[in-house]
Amino acid sequence: MSDFINDGLARNYLAGEWVEGDNGDVVAVEDPGNEEHVADCAKAGEATLAKALRAARTSFERGDLADMQPSSRGRLMLRVAAEIRGIAAEGAHLLCRESGKSLDAAHDEFEEAAQYFEYYGGVADKIEGKSIPLGPDYADYTIYEPFGVSAQVVPWNFPVSLAARSLAPSMAAGNSTIIKSPELDPIGLALLGKALQRADVPAGTVSILNGIGADLGARLVASSEIDQIVFTGSVPTGQAILRSAAETVTPSLMELGGKSAAVVFEDADLDTVMSSLQSGIFYNAGQVCSAMARVLVHRSIYDEAVERATALANGISVGHGLENPVHTPIISAAQLAKIEEAASMARQDGARVAAGGSRLDRKGYFMAPTILADVDPSSRVAQEEIFGPVTCMTPFDTEAEAIAMANGTEFGLVAGLYTKDLARTHRVARRLRAGQVFVNEWFAGGIATPFGGVGKSGFGREKGLEALYNYVRTKNIAISLKA
Ligand code: NAD
Repeated sequence: MSDFINDGLARNYLAGEWVEGDNGDVVAVEDPGNEEHVADCAKAGEATLAKALRAARTSFERGDLADMQPSSRGRLMLRVAAEIRGIAAEGAHLLCRESGKSLDAAHDEFEEAAQYFEYYGGVADKIEGKSIPLGPDYADYTIYEPFGVSAQVVPWNFPVSLAARSLAPSMAAGNSTIIKSPELDPIGLALLGKALQRADVPAGTVSILNGIGADLGARLVASSEIDQIVFTGSVPTGQAILRSAAETVTPSLMELGGKSAAVVFEDADLDTVMSSLQSGIFYNAGQVCSAMARVLVHRSIYDEAVERATALANGISVGHGLENPVHTPIISAAQLAKIEEAASMARQDGARVAAGGSRLDRKGYFMAPTILADVDPSSRVAQEEIFGPVTCMTPFDTEAEAIAMANGTEFGLVAGLYTKDLARTHRVARRLRAGQVFVNEWFAGGIATPFGGVGKSGFGREKGLEALYNYVRTKNIAISLKA
């Protein structure tokens, strides 16, 4: 067991130290694959948050990161990446048990986290301003400054890699960062503190606090001591945070939910579509913001597509994450109940349950891989995010109809299209209302490709060089040379 988790208690990472939080309060963390207790997590309250805020501000004002030579900051981040790989085996085991995801998927989160630090470490000394020509009487240039203290609230579906997705550019830009971990699976993320400690990241520049969203999370984002909010999570929480941010006029980055559609044209390769469907809706039990939640298929190949999707759903391996199956449990009993309810709502609204449709009869919170066919695009199940292993299939006749259906929700996170026709690819990709369009491969892209939403899926971009500019503000310096 690591030093941060002793006697079954995982601690908060507060400015370089492991602390228990306030009043001995804890959050119990459960293994959704077998309903066993994994560990307790020390809950940070008001006093611990105040210490983290003070440490972050002091560190920022001292210039611990911001005044470091940018190339040294880059090298520091490369050390963090190496240390993340060093804790990956221990972390993946803990994350697998607390989140229910497969051991391989948990390991991939640590690997991806390391890659975020490498990517943004590599650009720490390339955040270049501009020189603006105003004629011979002026010298004018812009510089990019860090915000100061970045408050980051992380969801439970990919706690480690999503935390790194925001922490790495925040550090590269020179901010101090306070992370609020998700209460359902905070332990793997807290372990990142160990990599930061081992890499000698200046104490105070990063704290990772555990607590309940409506309590610790709400206090953190409402604090007048923060300079930026980065939120990844659901639409209702994002809206609550934005209301609170309006009071303090705090700049915010919102990465919210989705109901993303794949559009499958008549010339699509169905083997490719099925392999996309497997990862698109069954990876991490469909608990993915950019999941393939809807599949719109040209009527000429619709029946075959439904048949193949049904066979796929009925044939995938199911098990505890430690066994590395394709299909793993839902994070909690409450989430599972919501997903089951969505499936029964679909039935009421006239959808055909081609596969699954209810929980599996086994210990743990398992939802059967579910294919809903003939889904009315305006029905609730086609409009609302389910966040589970459930996809909605609907036929279409024309390209225009497919685009209208794909764009016909209040979300706009990603979209996909499957065709061999290059002209159609470009035409349709431009018309899809989404921050990212996958062509012939769901989840194509990676750390280097900008990601983020349109509409209620949020605003701002994570990943890629573009994300870096969400962690800085522009200052213009205009110098008169006339005197
Ligand atoms: P959630 O909104 O319930 O919680 C997210 C985080 O916010 C948690 O840490 C939670 O404790 C905290 N929180 C809750 N109430 C809060 C409040 N009032 N103030 C401050 N913080 C608060 O979301 P979830 O169930 O953890 O995650 C699933 C959702 O996240 C889905 O909607 C999914 O689509 C979305 N998501 C989006 C992205 C993206 O990049 N766009 C990535 C992953 C997940």
